Amino acid sequence: MLSQYADLCAAHEDALVLFQVGDFYEAFCEAAEAVARVCEVTLTERTDSTGEYPMAGIPIDNAAPYLEALLDADYRVALGDQVEDAEQASGLVDRAVTEVITPGTVVEDDLLESGTANYVAAVARDATGAGDGNGSAEERSRDPTDPADPPVGLAAVDVATGECLVTAGDAATVAEELDRIAPEELVVGPNADGVLPAVGDRDWTVHGYDPDAFDRRAASERLEPYVPAPDRRFDAHAELRAAGAVLAYAEYTQGDDGPLEYVSRVRRYDPREHLRLDAAAQRSLELFENRGLGASDTVFDVLDETNCALGRRRLERWLRRPLVDADAIRSRHDAVGELADRTLIRERLTDALSTAYDLERLIGRVSRGRADARDLRSLYATLDVVPELKATLAEPASNATADPDEGENSLPRTDHLRDLRDRLDELAGIRELIDEAIAPDPPQEITEGGVIRDGFDDDLDELRATERAGREWVADLESSERERTGIDSLSVGHNQVHGYYIEVTDANLDRVPDDYRRRQTLKNSERYYTPALKEREEEIVGAAERADALEYERFVEVRERVAEETERIQALADALADLDALASLAAVAVANDYVRPELTDDPAAGIRIEGGRHPVVERTEEAFVPNDADLPRGSVAVITGPNMSGKSTYMRQVALTVVLAQIGSFIPAQAARLPVLSRVFTRVGASDDIAGGQSTFMREMSELTEILHDAGPDSLVLLDEVGRGTATTDGRAIARAAAEFVHDELRATTLFATHYHGLTDLAAERERAFNLHFSATREDGDVTFLHRVVRGASSSSYGVEVAELAGVPTPVVDRSRELVAADEADASDAAGSVTDEAGSVTDEADPPEDVPLREFLVEDVDEDGSTDPSTDDSTVPNDPTADDPSPVDPSTDDSAKSATDRPPAPVETLRDLDLARMTPIEALNALHDLQNRLDDAD
Ligand code: ADP
Ligand code: MG
Repeated sequence: MLSQYADLCAAHEDALVLFQVGDFYEAFCEAAEAVARVCEVTLTERTDSTGEYPMAGIPIDNAAPYLEALLDADYRVALGDQVEDAEQASGLVDRAVTEVITPGTVVEDDLLESGTANYVAAVARDATGAGDGNGSAEERSRDPTDPADPPVGLAAVDVATGECLVTAGDAATVAEELDRIAPEELVVGPNADGVLPAVGDRDWTVHGYDPDAFDRRAASERLEPYVPAPDRRFDAHAELRAAGAVLAYAEYTQGDDGPLEYVSRVRRYDPREHLRLDAAAQRSLELFENRGLGASDTVFDVLDETNCALGRRRLERWLRRPLVDADAIRSRHDAVGELADRTLIRERLTDALSTAYDLERLIGRVSRGRADARDLRSLYATLDVVPELKATLAEPASNATADPDEGENSLPRTDHLRDLRDRLDELAGIRELIDEAIAPDPPQEITEGGVIRDGFDDDLDELRATERAGREWVADLESSERERTGIDSLSVGHNQVHGYYIEVTDANLDRVPDDYRRRQTLKNSERYYTPALKEREEEIVGAAERADALEYERFVEVRERVAEETERIQALADALADLDALASLAAVAVANDYVRPELTDDPAAGIRIEGGRHPVVERTEEAFVPNDADLPRGSVAVITGPNMSGKSTYMRQVALTVVLAQIGSFIPAQAARLPVLSRVFTRVGASDDIAGGQSTFMREMSELTEILHDAGPDSLVLLDEVGRGTATTDGRAIARAAAEFVHDELRATTLFATHYHGLTDLAAERERAFNLHFSATREDGDVTFLHRVVRGASSSSYGVEVAELAGVPTPVVDRSRELVAADEADASDAAGSVTDEAGSVTDEADPPEDVPLREFLVEDVDEDGSTDPSTDDSTVPNDPTADDPSPVDPSTDDSAKSATDRPPAPVETLRDLDLARMTPIEALNALHDLQNRLDDAD
């Protein structure tokens, strides 16, 4: 046995081989030690003719937790199953590897997380390029058009569902895509080294794979069954190699039985088809991963009100890949809006969807020939909700809804939902077939009968009738034999080993008839059979065995017929997934008071958000303070304010608003008018990034590098405390230089939160730069952050102010002020020497007074004669057809800036009066003052 084990190990060098021995998977020698350690099972010894060696085993019918532990420990596990019936084998039972379980290719439901994709990816670099994959690759990869930089191919397969993605790009793009796909496992071919540094510190398993699989010719042949004319379809050789290799690997793990038929959706895409979020943005916006910065949830948690695994996986995909096509986005907004409005229909849809199973994985199992009868029943149950969904989407309204706008019938108003309804394929034939064939509550085992319904197959019914008749005969035997023999205690029984028997106690042995044959002697009784009983028994057993075999045969036939409809079922799954994801977005919009953003096609339009909120923080913060954002295209907003005043939250909420809008979601705001952006970058200064565990200055700088290389006019850039990871002087200089570069060269719309107060000078020097700040007040002796963003720079000594507010003794506060002033002088010298800017800047670039940002929105809107945006009427219309020019005129962006240069009007002063803290006399004085100022103005 050990030599058979050794053979399998040799054939699967990269894997840990588990060897079926009856009801256990066993491992020997070194592998046994690994299994014992990782699975925490006892290490035992096995002795045979060749000696003594270590052995460890796990039970097959409860293997999942052990396999999971092995996968978590980055093992690949080859299952060496017995492929021969132990009873029929002469000598050693033959064993073969039927499956290699790896982190990225598992298909077992109990090893997969539900509702999320599980990818294995391959990365290949085109060897025909000039690149040698090392040295300057990093640098060359910056320019995708550089012929010296060979493209990198990336392909990923979800083996459970059959989804396959293929793309190519420069090393940085592929690294970013890898972050987005987040494969569990990555296989790399020759020449791929250049990509790896960028992905080396992720938590997926990376290993090299058979270089032959990456060969162009081999890859092309491999792909033939999956996509027609792969050579033409994949234009970059890198794509072809990656796709070929990843499919080779997937086939290998599934037992190498040839192509995986259900991988029928090999989709090639260009990363530019999506809003690109660099890796740092994906993390710092906490889309999927909570990093302990503030709230405890992720953005995905907030958006996920899906009802089935299909929808959940779809929503995840949308959030990883926001759209950049304005019409496609609007179309999703239409559908979300319609579902949000129509509560009743939405509830009916979600009720139906919540009974849907994971159709994609089910059809994967059907197609792989792994589905059991329960899977087919689940598939049936899912197909069974389709008519209900269709009816709901096609139903005349009449009394069904309270919506006064509802017309004669409630056919979907939007093309998007109409289209979805048409994609709902009822697959009536398959549905009926499964229902007629498969027993309603079948056993898990498919070879032991009970899976096929009565009435489906005449031969099966006949065998069952024979079996039943035999059993009835046996059931009657006891009474008839008692009568015949006169033995009242005679009984008829059955056991596994001896089959049917007639049992007679020793006291009655003299009355046993002649035709009884002895079968077994017990302590106080004898067991017999008769020729007639034996004959019946053979009949029963024979019929049962043939019935089981026939059932299995029929079952497999049904499964194959279902498998023939793989593509249609996948298309249905696709529609159900879309519907569920849209319904989820609609439910979230209603529950959280989101509005439809208006998308503008104006390529010069900036971001305008009224009353924006952070979708995650607002859920945990009792009184979340909404804030406006008015960011002309290409502007740089320098944001200052004390620690914990809300800078980071504000910047992220702006980015999240853009992301949410572009996945088709409504947004947490009162209104917004947004351009369609192509990239979002974030860089969070090292000390703010401690939760990530990688807070090195080097990393901070290399991510900054990426931004400085790749950001452009269609990008939104968040720089949060950049430069913090090093000494103050350097940090300040780098922050300053980066801000200037972003403004002058990249023209990316940028939010720059910084504690380097000197950066506020930028507003005076650069046309499109302006200042925002957050301030604090004292209430009942406590320092309170207002969390309200205001125009202008904060006072350079806000830290000291906070200290004063908190009650630090006056002498200390005063001395602090002196020191700050001295430091500031130094600082502008330092900045000047680095940037070659004369140190002539002052803190007066923006007027120091706090003018709420909303004022500017009001003014801009008023110029166009619209009403006050703080009332409900003025929110950007929540109407799918509203393509009219917005009341917000982007060309007046600069008016915002000029407005800050005016002294505060009496109204502003009035607004700022803190009535709660004024005595009546103070109030009268203030009024008197205001009257005087109005007189002066006249
Ligand atoms: P900063 O970046 O200025 O240090 P943060 O953005 O991290 O501040 O915010 C600190 C905390 O303040 C957040 O964790 C959140 O609880 C709270 N906060 C931020 N913005 C708001 C807001 N607009 N309304 C209410 N609370 C807020
Ligand atoms: Mg912060």
